[in-house]
Amino acid sequence: EVRVRFPPSPTGYLHIGGARTAIYNWLFAKKHGGKMVLRIEDTDAERSTEESIRGIIDGMEWLGLDWDEGPYFQTDHADEHRAAAAKLLAGGQAYKCFCSKEELEARREAAVKAKADYRYNGACRDLSPEEAAAREAAGTPYVIRFKVPQEAGLVAFKDEVYGGIERSYQDIEDFVIVRSNGQPLYLLCNVVDDIRDKISHVIRGQDGLANTPRQILLYRALGANPPTFAHMPLTLDLNKAKISKRSHGEVVAVQFYREQGFISWALVNFLVLLGWSPGDDREIFSKEELIEAFSLAGISKANSIFNYRKDDPKFFTDPKAININAHYLRTIPVSELASLVRPFLEQEKIWDPAYQGEKKAWFEKTLEMTRERFHTLKDFTTLGRAWFADDFTVDDKAREKNLLKHPQLQEWLPELADRLAALPEITPEEAERVARELAEAHGVKPGIPINGARAVITGQIKGPSMFEVFAHLERDKVIGRLREAGK
Ligand code: GLU
Repeated sequence: EVRVRFPPSPTGYLHIGGARTAIYNWLFAKKHGGKMVLRIEDTDAERSTEESIRGIIDGMEWLGLDWDEGPYFQTDHADEHRAAAAKLLAGGQAYKCFCSKEELEARREAAVKAKADYRYNGACRDLSPEEAAAREAAGTPYVIRFKVPQEAGLVAFKDEVYGGIERSYQDIEDFVIVRSNGQPLYLLCNVVDDIRDKISHVIRGQDGLANTPRQILLYRALGANPPTFAHMPLTLDLNKAKISKRSHGEVVAVQFYREQGFISWALVNFLVLLGWSPGDDREIFSKEELIEAFSLAGISKANSIFNYRKDDPKFFTDPKAININAHYLRTIPVSELASLVRPFLEQEKIWDPAYQGEKKAWFEKTLEMTRERFHTLKDFTTLGRAWFADDFTVDDKAREKNLLKHPQLQEWLPELADRLAALPEITPEEAERVARELAEAHGVKPGIPINGARAVITGQIKGPSMFEVFAHLERDKVIGRLREAGK
């Protein structure tokens, strides 16, 4: 049975790299009819917070990444972690090490001076039980170290992404599994939990690769079969630096995309492509298509690039992410879009409950007319504000290219208002007729009053056909805004 886990350490927000790990695990579980366990690795009590746990769970839910078991908490299993260490001690697979920090430091410095690799020298490995007991009785602090085999040999395993990996025993020091305060180390806790949770596949970031040989030794010593490992490539920025909150800011947090008006599936779709490819050039996937297409074999060894230019104000994140979001925004059923746009309008206090009642058809048609130019849900409240509120601003370019360039619009637009007001009903055809008549009367191209009207009615330089807009937007708004242009 396929069993995977997503084990975030709750020391911050849900990072897009963490979300990508969750997505790969989730897809792998779905693809194989397996189960995904959500396990909060909160052993680092000082850095773990409730708020972070909530943020991670919210983020997972928003992304639609459901799990089958959990959330489990690593701290609930502290006894098992200690018991595992005790078992290794009792079985002679681990030992107490009384070397002091100063001794270790002196040896490390000597190694550096001699230009040799430093590794713990095993000084306490062969202490007699009596000697160890005496030191313990004297109150000497100790850590517990794992006994790495001393004979020639190696740990070999096949990583599903990076292929065959070998590490000789000689290159692995007797590593610490329990600190001097009695606290088992993360490396051990993680293995104990994976054994208990019967994890079949560990799919995690490439930074876990360095731990894997030691973890495999722990599995064996604890009498368990190691799972299959798949390590994912890192995601780097354009300067080949790891993406992090410190250097990139909130653009690495899942929550940021939610606030910016991403459709959650669009973010999933974007993230899945950061280091995985279906083997053809498809880039847009429904959930079913993605589950069908996903495989560990499609994960690339090469680091993926998060194409984000902090200094380009046009793009608040990787342009590909924005384009994928725009694709979904323009193609999902408009009723679905309506419920996604609603919280953004509410937040701006420009939501009208009638959009769910008598103005529902109007609201949905508005979304349909405007979404072609929008990239995020938030755009409906900024670029699209004039459709829902009167307190919108006219875009600088729209003002410059129309109102400032053709000052006569101050007369023509109120005149257009009069012509429209004289119509019993404003239809696109009638609106077109009166706009053309007005242009002809003044000997100008129809585009001039029409684009001028667009600027004062929608605040934008481009948009849907103005004849449609005249007919669709509330009559008093159309006429009022045109008249206002004369003042
Ligand atoms: N808690 C670890 C992290 O957030 C998970 C490492 C693993 O998957 O084994 O990096």
